[in-house]
Amino acid sequence: MDSKHKKIYLTFDDGPVPIVTPWVLDVLKQYNIKATFFCVGENVVKYPSIYQRILDDDHSIGNHTYNHLNGWNTHTKTYIENVELCSIALNSENKTQQTNLFRPPYGRAKKSQISYLSAKKPTNQPSYSIIMWDVLSGDYDKKTSPSTCLNNVINNVRNGSIIVFHDSPKAQINLEYALPRFIEYALAKGFEFEKLS
Ligand SMILES: [Zn+2]
Repeated sequence: MDSKHKKIYLTFDDGPVPIVTPWVLDVLKQYNIKATFFCVGENVVKYPSIYQRILDDDHSIGNHTYNHLNGWNTHTKTYIENVELCSIALNSENKTQQTNLFRPPYGRAKKSQISYLSAKKPTNQPSYSIIMWDVLSGDYDKKTSPSTCLNNVINNVRNGSIIVFHDSPKAQINLEYALPRFIEYALAKGFEFEKLS
């Protein structure tokens, strides 16, 4: 994002799930920070009350497909249908605005998939902004220790950074260590946190 301002953007992928997502929401609330949650549609359907909490806390949401599909291995038609299924799940619970944020799982999508999703549509389907990142915490990686995870973020954050964490059981140990420490670090450095819109 814009590098002129000391603004950074926390994003959380793969939720909502019990325990981890509510924990993230508690931490964000404690620091009065807004973030962006790229939700997996099937998790939204499984855990509607946790999804509702993300909305109630006024964070942004984004589409992360219904089944966390790898675009490289998926036919474009199937992929688009899966994104639309996720969109239906997000909107069935979301009484406000349809999200036009999309992040491809694994950062992997074919050109045909991206160009379809980001194209202007005549109907009420959104034309998606494709949101990638510049800072990957590596929180989900079993080979990454909690302190390495924290350093990954601290050493790479800059004005306008979009930072990826995961509200996922796989990431829990690293996330619980790195997230509050990173927030403290960034606030002390004068960064402001914003949600994507
Ligand atoms: Zn993901």
